[in-house]
Amino acid sequence: MKCSICDSQRHDSNLLKNHHWYLRKAGVGPNSYYILDAARHVESLLSLQREEWESLGPALSQGLQWVEQGSPQKIYIACLSEKVPHVHFHLVPRSADHEKGISHLDKALSGSYPGEGDFH
Ligand SMILES: [Zn+2]
Repeated sequence: MKCSICDSQRHDSNLLKNHHWYLRKAGVGPNSYYILDAARHVESLLSLQREEWESLGPALSQGLQWVEQGSPQKIYIACLSEKVPHVHFHLVPRSADHEKGISHLDKALSGSYPGEGDFH
């Protein structure tokens, strides 16, 4: 099965890498955010192995520190894995200029902000 996340792990430069998780940036500018990908192709959180669960907390913490560098008011975390069935977490900063709540998350993840692509 072709998986865009597995492909991106081979070709993109990841910000952080450990044995189980990769962090990458999606987009540019004020509406960019970060994505934490499972290193192996796994389609459900329920299929994560114990070592992957154990390293998820530290990987999320590191990812949140990257997002925090942009001084957002809030950081949203979403794990949908619908469009690309590979477990990944969206770490989405919300600044004062953004709407609050699900509408911001929806726009950020769908690439609906001007000049944005689709980064699922
Ligand atoms: Zn994959």
